[in-house]
Amino acid sequence: MMNPKSNAIGFIGLGQMGGPMSANLAKAGFALAAFDAAGTEERAPDGVTVAGSVAEVAGASESIFLSLPNGTIVAEVVAEIAGNPGKVERVIDLSTIGIEAAVAAHATLAGAGIAYLDAPVSGGAKGAKAGTLTIMWAGAEDAGDGLGEAFDAMAKNVFHVGARPGQGQAVKLLNNFLSAVAMTATSEAVAFGLANGLEMKTILDVVNVSTGQNTASRDKFPERVLTGTYDAGFATALFAKDLKLYIESVARADAPAEIGAVVERLWREADKAMPGSDFTRMYEFIAG
Ligand code: NAD
Repeated sequence: MMNPKSNAIGFIGLGQMGGPMSANLAKAGFALAAFDAAGTEERAPDGVTVAGSVAEVAGASESIFLSLPNGTIVAEVVAEIAGNPGKVERVIDLSTIGIEAAVAAHATLAGAGIAYLDAPVSGGAKGAKAGTLTIMWAGAEDAGDGLGEAFDAMAKNVFHVGARPGQGQAVKLLNNFLSAVAMTATSEAVAFGLANGLEMKTILDVVNVSTGQNTASRDKFPERVLTGTYDAGFATALFAKDLKLYIESVARADAPAEIGAVVERLWREADKAMPGSDFTRMYEFIAG
């Protein structure tokens, strides 16, 4: 495979994550053709060429990055790429879509001789902007050849977690499960502290230098809940989707899911009660 920097690369899905990730690729000097179904013109960052369709991106690219909402949409997009393979050699899927959808995307693309990297990310919109994401990718090791510079433009930590498509998704789903536990459990703990007349800031200050500290207490609460901004840039709906994928995959793997079942239900109910909300509003849902 050739270094994508010397060849045009594509980016499909310019949302909360794809927007800043593609901006960082462009800033690093990559020639980028991008497409977003909701309107590329208004979403494409500076230095990115606006494409009119997925097929147009495929026609111009050797490596295509995806940052799409779910597995159904990824299936549609990879089918369109497989039908218009042009000179596409690989698709690097940064979306969270679950194990089965990743396996299906791999099969669709393999039929057209295109490699698939199941490469979900962690670090949120904040990490996407800062270029400090974690990328956990799975696929044949040589499928990642020459991608180092592109990965480095978006991420601080890059892990090849396994050869089987879907293994990147497995790590991502278990990570988001842990992140969801932290957000829900911290919401309950803070509500308990407030009910005892404590200040939220005091609770967080103590916990964050004690054994209860976690990603919610260190980051989401001080920056998004205490401030009342609720703007982490990740939708409750997408978190609920990730937890549904997690719980379904856990069942298929016949692995334990006692805490998973409770947490999945809470996020499903929160999404129903607060459509369109940022996931940090889980605190309001729990605290009432
Ligand atoms: P988003 O909804 O903001 O962005 C998705 C983009 O895809 C939208 O702009 C949408 O218009 C576009 N799109 C939808 N269908 C399309 C199609 N057929 N062709 C082209 N574009 C299409 O979502 P996001 O928050 O950027 O998340 C993207 C992915 O990254 C999801 O799978 C999500 O689970 C995952 N993720 C998000 C975060 C986060 O904090 N936001 C963190 C890690 C992973």
